[in-house]
Amino acid sequence: MGETNIQWASKTWNPTTGCDHVSAECDFCYAERAAQKWQKMNANGYGERGFNFTTRPERLNKPREEDWSDEYVFVGSMSDLFHKRCDAGYIHNVFDVMHEVEGNVWQLLTKRPERYVEMEYLPWKENIWAGTSVGHRDSKGRLDKLRECHAEVCFVSFEPLIEDLEDLNLSGIDWAIIGGESGPKDEIREVDLDWFRSIIHQCHKQDTAVFVKQLGELWARAHETDHPHGGHPYDWPEDLQIREMPRVFPGQPEHDQWP
Ligand code: SF4
Repeated sequence: MGETNIQWASKTWNPTTGCDHVSAECDFCYAERAAQKWQKMNANGYGERGFNFTTRPERLNKPREEDWSDEYVFVGSMSDLFHKRCDAGYIHNVFDVMHEVEGNVWQLLTKRPERYVEMEYLPWKENIWAGTSVGHRDSKGRLDKLRECHAEVCFVSFEPLIEDLEDLNLSGIDWAIIGGESGPKDEIREVDLDWFRSIIHQCHKQDTAVFVKQLGELWARAHETDHPHGGHPYDWPEDLQIREMPRVFPGQPEHDQWP
């Protein structure tokens, strides 16, 4: 694992910060809670803007200035790059950097995949992966938008998984991440592990690599696990201990995803 606690990445890069809620999965947004805390402390550059969507052009060159080869870089862990207030020119600037810096994997994740489609000339390539999040049945249409975009590699994060997603069409989806919710303990939603099993079964049937990230904070509390979000596979039922990565291009970095 790298310098982030997010098990499926080794690094994060936030050329934007802040966001607005779009759906039920956002109710206990980690990025929002962190931004509010840092705004109160006037820390990490959040003093003025808090969780308001903000472009951070001063961060654009960081990947050019440091050695990020072999990293899995989650782009926008504290934001959504495809927020409606992010203009197309800025998104192209971010893509310019991703094109120039090679040897790693860039992992974009948005709850607004319709913008992937609207921006039909985005210069995707094999190490720039397009992702979307789906944790609720009402959000399943995001998978159709993801399929419509021209990315060479598509992935979905089923986190926070807040209800049974029932039947899923995973055609064209290379990778699926699954995770239970974390956040305020009296408010977050309980997960049923059979929802995980249903997704895993469908991934295996539809040839999609699957990565179980965490079983969620309520499950972790109930089972008194070391990891506060139930993120250690050795604590889980054996049939859920699955962390696959898609292998999609020669020279793709290895990723050590076990704790
Ligand atoms: S889209 Fe993501 S970053 Fe934006 S509010 Fe929702 S969970 Fe938070």
